[in-house]
Amino acid sequence: MGAINMDILVHVDQYPKYGANVPAKNLEINVGGKGSNQAVAVAKQHVNQTLIGSIGNDDFGKQILSSLENSGVKTDNLIIKDDVQTGTAVAAVDNTGENTFMVVLGANNSITSSDIDAAMKNLNAKVFLVNLETSQESVLAALKIAKSKDMYIVLDPAPENSYFEESLKYADVVTPNKQETERITGVKVETIADGKKAAKIIANKGVKNVIVKLGESGNVLYESEKDLFTIIKATRVKAVNTVGAGDTFAGVLSAHLAKNPNNLVEAIEIASKAAAIKVSRSGGHDAIPTLEEINQFEY
Ligand code: ADP
Repeated sequence: MGAINMDILVHVDQYPKYGANVPAKNLEINVGGKGSNQAVAVAKQHVNQTLIGSIGNDDFGKQILSSLENSGVKTDNLIIKDDVQTGTAVAAVDNTGENTFMVVLGANNSITSSDIDAAMKNLNAKVFLVNLETSQESVLAALKIAKSKDMYIVLDPAPENSYFEESLKYADVVTPNKQETERITGVKVETIADGKKAAKIIANKGVKNVIVKLGESGNVLYESEKDLFTIIKATRVKAVNTVGAGDTFAGVLSAHLAKNPNNLVEAIEIASKAAAIKVSRSGGHDAIPTLEEINQFEY
């Protein structure tokens, strides 16, 4: 479950100064939003899935629907809204691959708890993956239902926001990136040692498994029940575009947990390889690797 947006992206060498007007290199228009990216990453692992989220009854919404269906994502549980726009993000990516996004949440922010009740009533799943980009009401309602149906809950706390702490109570595993970890814990996260310290602080908020994503420095897993840290190194690649790295990671992780719920470390290894492949390519959903591409990847 999560946000579904149309992403409008320009590439620049360097970020312009505030107020400047500079030429951009090229324009990309892709279907994005954490929910749709994660759903495509799941679908490309050949596991049975469905996406819960909302789009408007407008041109962007229609384009998104056909794009998701072409990527193999099941859209039967999507909530189509007549009175709000499809979520839209405008972004610039510089030549280091780093990005800045501004998002009109639109339909994503209009999902009510009764929409969620209807969408999830007949659903059963081994794993429920959710991020924090749709309305607070929708995320908390969905987490309650997923927990009551005994689903394994993967929480991607992105973007970090006020309902994070309440959401955490339901999660079996949480996957913050550096910035989110810093905001959640107050610990400045650069090194593996910082990641370990912060992971323990997050676990103490009441979640069993914490994965702190450190970008090219890799991932720190802390399993509180075993009091065990595992470091999963990132695969070395030349970064072209880091947009969607975390989404690819979350989707592939969740898909492999559905296949093998007892091997969190192996699921992280596969997810981290998938995210590295995503980072090395430009593009949106088309750049998210398939299971076959992950298996064939040499590094
Ligand atoms: P987010 O997209 O949420 O900010 P990160 O930037 O931490 O997340 O990336 C998620 C995962 O993608 C990382 O934990 C890592 O496994 C992988 N990754 C990100 N950047 C790189 C990179 N430059 N090289 C290799 N792997 C990367």
